[in-house]
Amino acid sequence: MELFADSIIWDAHAGMFPAPDNDLNLLSDWRDNGVTYISINVGFDVMDWQQTLATLAAYRRWMLENSDRFILAGSVGDIIAAKAANKLAVSFDIEGMNALNGDLNMIGVYHGLGVRQMLFAYNLNNDAAGGCHDEDIGLSDFGRDIVDEMNRVGMIVDCSHASYQTSMDIMEQSNKPVVFTHSNPTAIWDHQRNINDEQIKSCAKTGGVIGINGMGIFLGDNDSRSETVVEHMCYVADLVGPEHVGFGFDYSPEMEIDVGSILRARPDYWPAGNGYNTPDIKHVGPSQLPQIMAGMQARGFGDEEVGGILGGNFQRVASNVWASK
Ligand SMILES: [Zn+2]
Repeated sequence: MELFADSIIWDAHAGMFPAPDNDLNLLSDWRDNGVTYISINVGFDVMDWQQTLATLAAYRRWMLENSDRFILAGSVGDIIAAKAANKLAVSFDIEGMNALNGDLNMIGVYHGLGVRQMLFAYNLNNDAAGGCHDEDIGLSDFGRDIVDEMNRVGMIVDCSHASYQTSMDIMEQSNKPVVFTHSNPTAIWDHQRNINDEQIKSCAKTGGVIGINGMGIFLGDNDSRSETVVEHMCYVADLVGPEHVGFGFDYSPEMEIDVGSILRARPDYWPAGNGYNTPDIKHVGPSQLPQIMAGMQARGFGDEEVGGILGGNFQRVASNVWASK
């Protein structure tokens, strides 16, 4: 427990549906469970870019009004300060480049407003990249320019939700570490949202981290047991080393807003046959972290390795990427 209390606990991605009227008191769930940092999404390809900006504006205001418990984190220094002050550090991410509205300059705008990581295509192809549930295309010229611009401004390049070819193109293009914030190995559970050994090895080669996703349908047959998470973590650790393992549980506490109608309006983003219509999809949450940590220790991982998986590994990437200008 001492290791847990002393570590920076880094959840690389939450699965909260982005909407301006969300009550962000939901974030207490992470804080109460000892998490230091969470990245929450303010938009994804399913919605238009104006909605992303509106969500970003509302979340920023809420964060600043609740600075007694939360810190809008722009740097690793902010996250270390949050740990010391018993606050939850939060920054934003965006799932898909439709949020740019075709304009590369929007990367810098979003960065200025607190977005610290973006992924390229949410399941379906867009003008920048290929998504994992669509025809397997690579990065477009626009997509390559986006990677360069993200490297330049200091934003983490995320390959989750991308197609195989797009992810490989991104990792070749980037001159900074690249991550998968919330993707699991297909070797353990075969799903189009999961990633193969070649993708995992290429990610590690950039110095990046693979964040294990906590959604039951990506872990197994709607399986959210801590031992299953440990199995996914061990697989990646054995393949490329524990310094390339983290987690992005994609978790959301119960929300008051009705997201069902929005999701039902665009079923093409979650194609049939991938388990998305599974009743009562189970989900690993931050409360399971001590159990997962104990599971990793039982499998022979030492304090330094477990500390890295809990957060040190993603912190290393952020220290490198966010510092660039
Ligand atoms: Zn996602």
